[in-house]
Amino acid sequence: TSAEPLLQLTDITAHYGRIQALKGINLSVAAGEIVSIIGANGAGKSTTLMTICNIVKASGGALTYQGEDIRGVNADKLPMMGLCQVPEGRRIFPRLTVAENLDMGAFFRRDHGGVRKDRNHVYELFPRLKERRSQPGGTLSGGEQQMLAIGRALMARPKLLLLDEPSLGLAPLVVKQIFEIVKTINEEDGVTILLVEQNANIALKMANRGYVLETGSVVLEDKAEALLHNPEIRKAYLGE
Ligand code: ATP
Repeated sequence: TSAEPLLQLTDITAHYGRIQALKGINLSVAAGEIVSIIGANGAGKSTTLMTICNIVKASGGALTYQGEDIRGVNADKLPMMGLCQVPEGRRIFPRLTVAENLDMGAFFRRDHGGVRKDRNHVYELFPRLKERRSQPGGTLSGGEQQMLAIGRALMARPKLLLLDEPSLGLAPLVVKQIFEIVKTINEEDGVTILLVEQNANIALKMANRGYVLETGSVVLEDKAEALLHNPEIRKAYLGE
């Protein structure tokens, strides 16, 4: 049913050896939402995303996507189900051209006409990528590589896009551009977004809801607007 969340984590735990990085995460994302996870360094934000994709294996709890248990699904099968991650540090292919990098995102698709259409759509969203389509990915600036990583994920036609620190290391103006495009992808293409960010201000400004993570636990969950105006959040995460 449509009332069922697109993604649901129930009491998810994760360990790195004896270190418990996630201590029972409860989190849900409804279709159409932008949800942001904020928190300090080491709070477990990246681990949460990696656990959703089964890159880090959950040690306990339940994980469902479209109502289906995905705890055992291999990370490389998830894009075919519409669940795509843009990892921290982008991980584009430096020797492949921009166009080839984009095509890698669609490697499993056989609808070549659709792929071509989606490539043109990515070029509309990111004109800079179109200009540089024949250039090796490794020669792009940091912001352009982030655009390419998002564009590549879009080539899989995601229903749910997981973004890990898209603002990392980028100039404020570039961050603003990228977040505007993420908003467009959500509003016009109907892609649901789960975003991890240290930049709490921009992450909450664009989100519908937010979760605050501290040392592997959700300590607060609310409408993004409410978190933005919460004095404790402002003090701890918004530099006041
Ligand atoms: P950051 O913004 O700094 O990436 P984060 O909130 O994303 O922080 P995680 O990277 O998820 O945090 O880390 C959560 C905890 O797990 C930290 O204590 C970290 O030291 C630990 N951790 C992360 N990756 C590993 C690993 N590969 N091996 C051991 N411990 C790890």
